[in-house]
Amino acid sequence: MLFNALNRFVINKVFQNNRFPLWTIVVLGSTALAITLSNRDILEEKAELPYGVSSNLPFEPLPYIPESNKKFVPVDPAIRTIQVEVASGESLSLIFQKVGLPDVDLLNILSLNKDSEKLKNLKPGQKIKFELSDDLLQKLVVEITNLESLIFSRQGESFSMRREAVKPDTIVVTAGTKLKTSLYIDGKNIGLSDSVIMQLTAIFAWDIDFTQNIRIGDRFKIIYEKLEIKGEYYKTGRILAAEFVNQANRYTAFLNTDNNGNNSYYSEKGHALQKTFLRNPVDSVRVSSRFNLKRKHPILNRIRAHKGVDYAAPIGTPIRATADGQVKYLGVKGGYGNTIELQHGGKYTTLYAHLSDYAKGLKIKSTVTQGQVIGYVGKSGLATGPHLHYEFRVNGEHRDPLTVKLPAERPINIKYKTAFEERTRMLISLLNHSKAHDTRETKKITETIIRLYSKR
Ligand SMILES: [Zn+2]
Repeated sequence: MLFNALNRFVINKVFQNNRFPLWTIVVLGSTALAITLSNRDILEEKAELPYGVSSNLPFEPLPYIPESNKKFVPVDPAIRTIQVEVASGESLSLIFQKVGLPDVDLLNILSLNKDSEKLKNLKPGQKIKFELSDDLLQKLVVEITNLESLIFSRQGESFSMRREAVKPDTIVVTAGTKLKTSLYIDGKNIGLSDSVIMQLTAIFAWDIDFTQNIRIGDRFKIIYEKLEIKGEYYKTGRILAAEFVNQANRYTAFLNTDNNGNNSYYSEKGHALQKTFLRNPVDSVRVSSRFNLKRKHPILNRIRAHKGVDYAAPIGTPIRATADGQVKYLGVKGGYGNTIELQHGGKYTTLYAHLSDYAKGLKIKSTVTQGQVIGYVGKSGLATGPHLHYEFRVNGEHRDPLTVKLPAERPINIKYKTAFEERTRMLISLLNHSKAHDTRETKKITETIIRLYSKR
């Protein structure tokens, strides 16, 4: 085996250099044979070492092949590689011409299968690699996306194709800053992508009002994924952990991914950050009028959309906040009479109308918790009888409160709890690491975190 390798190597070398007449092949070849035979012991000993490490042979050392590489792969110097980046308006046909390859190869490749047809529409910036030997195309590698390449290999007159998928590598990075201008600008200044900034506001949307209550001096720290392909930045991934100090309040969030791949964030104690709603704001429920966009109004006697639900109930029946939130409006509002509007996170609002009274002490900006009594059923405003008129809006749009898909809040499922706690401990220790801290320690932690997240 070794002898064959030596001999091939010699032949390759001589051909490559083109400096030696043919007879040298014969001479060197037989020299190699002679040495091989006469120094069998030495060579066998040498075989323990990586090839080429020692060179007490009468010619150049063999190419270095790592020990782990059991199979000897001869370096073929006759292979010529040409790398091309597709320029604007360039077709594969034009590129083949530039490289000097015949149309027949191009046609064989393009007509191979459905995937190879993709090569008819190349985009600027796509990378193409040609491997030629003796000016004959042996291999064509076309990068379809950052994550996928098609590889065509010569099989006689035609080509075979295989697909190579690249899985991006995940690295974990930390970032954070104190706000000097705005979350967006300061976030950009420390290199965060739009996606990461949006994730951050979505994670805390229930607890922090990012449109009204962000202050200079607020600060945050996050741990997030960065995806790389072959060591180059590809895109940002998920936020794994976040801490936001908004005025005097500190909020934390830690990612859990369930077996179906759904991502949810929890406080370090495992409470969901995404809150849920009670379906009904009054306890004893009799729906007297449903959500109906074409209802004839009982008092105005004309078509007027009923963008909520009416619950018939005696005057004074307590009304409960259907979710944690903040009082956005409290007072008389035209035909609604005494009205309360609550803001829940960034996305949801609820409205309670025709009240006889408000809960004591409640005012605009008060925070309320789910189930807290906020007022009492009445018939103020345009109402035929005592009832609660209740509206539910998602991003400002009315939805039927009885059928709207409500966000699901689940405390962390017991089956994920141990793993969640283990990861969260690591994430907290990383959040608490100062920048200048031992980077080896940080590296160890991030590697563990990546392993833990990929384990699930
Ligand atoms: Zn109504």
